[in-house]
Amino acid sequence: MMFHYNAGLFLTLAQLGVDVRRRQPRCFVSHAHADHIARHELAFATMATARLYRHRLGPHNRVREMAYRTPLEFGGLRLTALPAGHCLGSAMLFAEDGERSLLYTGDFKLGPSATAEAAEPPHADTLIMECTFGQPHYRLPPREEVIAGLLEIVFGALDDGRTPVIHAYPLGKSQEVTKLLTRQGVSVLQHPEIYAISRVYEECGVNLGDVSLFDGRPLDGHAVVTLPRGSRNFRLPGLGRTVSIAVTGWAADSSAKYRLGVDHALPLSDHADYDQLIATVRRVQPREIYCTHGPVEFADHLCDLGFNAYPLQAPAQRRLF
Ligand SMILES: [Zn+2]
Repeated sequence: MMFHYNAGLFLTLAQLGVDVRRRQPRCFVSHAHADHIARHELAFATMATARLYRHRLGPHNRVREMAYRTPLEFGGLRLTALPAGHCLGSAMLFAEDGERSLLYTGDFKLGPSATAEAAEPPHADTLIMECTFGQPHYRLPPREEVIAGLLEIVFGALDDGRTPVIHAYPLGKSQEVTKLLTRQGVSVLQHPEIYAISRVYEECGVNLGDVSLFDGRPLDGHAVVTLPRGSRNFRLPGLGRTVSIAVTGWAADSSAKYRLGVDHALPLSDHADYDQLIATVRRVQPREIYCTHGPVEFADHLCDLGFNAYPLQAPAQRRLF
């Protein structure tokens, strides 16, 4: 057995935790979202994730940095971080013990991103895969179509003298949507919590374009990027007439805009949709698949397609807002 599960995933030979949410002596951190991190004694992470991890948890956290595609030997294993396409620094972990290989995807998506390197899943004997959107109705429209819809709404609002207000997760989605807007000539003001993370992106060499801190007053002709509704402190003062837009994969649900309390909900996702999950399995060609971070039925869907798949843990579908 290359891994075991004990209220968290561990690579057995190296005694290395993988995205365990409680403090570990040694733990791989796939990316810096809150549901994947803890204050470990020693974290293994890519350079960008290391910066974002320290930004979130404090500068004194020890990190052994991993460059993408550069194997390191640890505890009898060869470990390689590969781009996951989810947010800046996000990585899949590829582990080899000399006989077998294992791929842990972390959160990932296939295809292009404006602010993260595209995912490169390799062949592996064992695949441990996140399956957030592991239900067949989470088939998202093509990304270019979603982006075109976003731009149409944003330019329409600006023409109408309204402020477009985009609600997005502060790490990853906010920077992605900002870059999509600024590269089309729309200037962006960001919520302070988002702007602080954007500064880390810029330090890592990601140019987000014409973006500034929202300092208490909206500016004509600017879009505003703020936290999801339902987060504390998402409200910004003095925005006047607005058009509100949520960007989230959950917008594939037709009722999403009512549940999210916004004028428009657009399915711009940083997770693989159902078809991308299946495409990933076909590309990795594993002998066995363990599904995590999603609906337990997804393993049944894979078994119906002829794969050898199991849920890794009790069902815990994430609904963050
Ligand atoms: Zn994530």
